[in-house]
Amino acid sequence: MQDLKIFQKTESLHEARWWEPMSGGRVHCFLCPRHCHIGEGQAGFCFIRVNQGGKLYSLGYASPAALQIDPIEKKPLNHFLPGTRVFSLGTAGCNMGCFFCQNWNISKSKSDQTHSTQISPEDVVALAIRYGCPSIAFTYNEPTIWGEYVIDICRAAREAGIHTVMVTNGYITREAFHDIYDQVDAANVDLKGFTDEFYGRITLTHLQPVLDTLTWLKNETRVWFEITNLVIPTLNDDPDEIRSLCEWIFQHLGPDVPLHFTAFHPDFKLRDKPKTPPETLDAARKIGLDAGLHFVYEGNILTDAANTFCPGCGRVLIRRGWHDVMENHLKEGKCPSCGLAIPGVWSNTRAPGLPSPKLSQSYDDLNL
Ligand code: SF4
Repeated sequence: MQDLKIFQKTESLHEARWWEPMSGGRVHCFLCPRHCHIGEGQAGFCFIRVNQGGKLYSLGYASPAALQIDPIEKKPLNHFLPGTRVFSLGTAGCNMGCFFCQNWNISKSKSDQTHSTQISPEDVVALAIRYGCPSIAFTYNEPTIWGEYVIDICRAAREAGIHTVMVTNGYITREAFHDIYDQVDAANVDLKGFTDEFYGRITLTHLQPVLDTLTWLKNETRVWFEITNLVIPTLNDDPDEIRSLCEWIFQHLGPDVPLHFTAFHPDFKLRDKPKTPPETLDAARKIGLDAGLHFVYEGNILTDAANTFCPGCGRVLIRRGWHDVMENHLKEGKCPSCGLAIPGVWSNTRAPGLPSPKLSQSYDDLNL
């Protein structure tokens, strides 16, 4: 556990969910499969869940450390409201320890080491509407660890007709899964490799809980979800491992879950590895298509493999340039050439005339 000096008054802290008291003033957090046992005055592995006075509190609640408006394709989601903007936020901390983290400046920070802004769930929704975003993404760090805030934003968003998106490592317990995923509309789940050796050594976690999350999403929710695999030279780019990953997706989730192979760039503790060559991504995509997957994309490089092709007749349905949608030929979610229905969420359902929530303060200094 992490030693923590907590200077906040208990009254100003947000009590966490998914915990139980233990002997000696310790608490057990069962939000993620780490199952941290946290002593008085300490934080869990993720830094932002703290034991103060024998109770667990969430330091991430209403305290985003990163706010930005992104294209939805950057999450990446290619079958969810293409070409729209998504109001994106993240806090400090993370429950994984990935050596290749590309947001390590916040994910490896304690909440008192980052510059956070206080924003209520209702104000997050009002800001999304003010900036013309039909959806809100919980992203940049792992949103599971601030699940209480996620749930309250989702509830306010649903009332206002705004969609919500988890960009997640999928490391969550059964006890918390439905509390969070029954509220969200879409997710992108990182499947970071396909061996427990890779997960243990490079992310300090385990593979099986992530696979469990993917099967729960498929079998027990209505969440639209896509999968990302960051391909890192020499660590998880073995063609046999990639084939096993693709075959597992086909067998357990079906052919229509989009899979994104994305390029690694040296960062954080993995600066000795080269960038992923485009040929490696091409080979991974071919393995996925050969395994029977219908929608296999390449990302973090400029490529035609960012386009959506009809699995029925092969025509380009959505043409993308980096994260921009250049052409969208879908007609009511169908291929205009062969009429095949393409799985995804293609239209924004916010009813015109729905009242917009009022902001409780100006936020003019956010510079979004
Ligand atoms: S959410 Fe944080 S405190 Fe809770 S079990 Fe996971 S790492 Fe530990």
